[in-house]
Amino acid sequence: MSNEITHPTIKDGWFREISDMWPGQAMTLKVNRIIHHEKSKYQDVLIFESSNHGTCLVLDNVIQCTERDEFSYQEMITHLAMNAHPNPKKVLVIGGGDGGVLREVVKHECVEEAILCDIDEAVIRLSKKYLPGMSVGFDHPAVKTHIGDGFKFLADKKNQFDVIITDSSDPEGPAESLFQKPYFELLHGALREGGVITTQGSENQWLHLSLIAQLKKDCKQVFPTVEYAYTTIPTYPSGQIGFMVCSKDANRDVTKPLRSWSTEEEEKLCKYYCKEVHEAAFVLPVFARQALRTS
Ligand code: SAM
Repeated sequence: MSNEITHPTIKDGWFREISDMWPGQAMTLKVNRIIHHEKSKYQDVLIFESSNHGTCLVLDNVIQCTERDEFSYQEMITHLAMNAHPNPKKVLVIGGGDGGVLREVVKHECVEEAILCDIDEAVIRLSKKYLPGMSVGFDHPAVKTHIGDGFKFLADKKNQFDVIITDSSDPEGPAESLFQKPYFELLHGALREGGVITTQGSENQWLHLSLIAQLKKDCKQVFPTVEYAYTTIPTYPSGQIGFMVCSKDANRDVTKPLRSWSTEEEEKLCKYYCKEVHEAAFVLPVFARQALRTS
């Protein structure tokens, strides 16, 4: 490493993501150099250049995104919801301060307004400086940014949004309230008729099945349509992360895209998402299907 900045998660040139959320295992990434470190009002923010994954953003010692694989997460959390809605015009992103979800939202030409609410200005400021491939989402004229807590932001929003995407960090820290039933009630209230949500609050089948089952139960108490999908991504724990996809419309089948791009458009716009992957994302291996069946 060529500079003087140090960080407790980086030893002998390797970043180690150790957490009780994934006991007994840890992702490690080889570090070329630490680009930036600061303690924001809400979290520890670390940005480093890795040897094989490009620039990496880490909040409270947990990887949020790496330039190499972020597209898998950003495309899936966004297009699963956007393409399960017939005509999403007004979209809200809670969290998502790196801008990657916004970048995906504005690929849909029907979008007239996309609002992002992230609690931490530092994530937005630093992503604009160090992660231009993601923060490009902030440049679109339809985008408005609000700095604040997502739970509080939603409190007085009624029947306003067609799609709401919760791209939050993990439940330990400022995002804790975004993983609980009262939050899903707020999301439901803020959606227009036929609205759709996706949320990252769904973690990983190998590590968090009981948490996923509980989240699905909570969502089902609020939304008539609730489905679990997942994507593969090397730098999230066990190489996978899931999404709850819910609709206010009891007859909506969110597992099938209502709108889709041509193959040429898909290959121009996306690197991971396509209509076949949309449907496949809801097909679960037997152990997960069984665990989630009753929830
Ligand atoms: N895809 C990433 C993941 O799963 O690890 C999340 C990326 S995004 C950078 C997470 C964002 O959620 C952060 O910018 C963080 O500041 C924001 N966040 C956490 N708690 C929040 C809250 N209560 N309200 C709004 N934004 C929040």
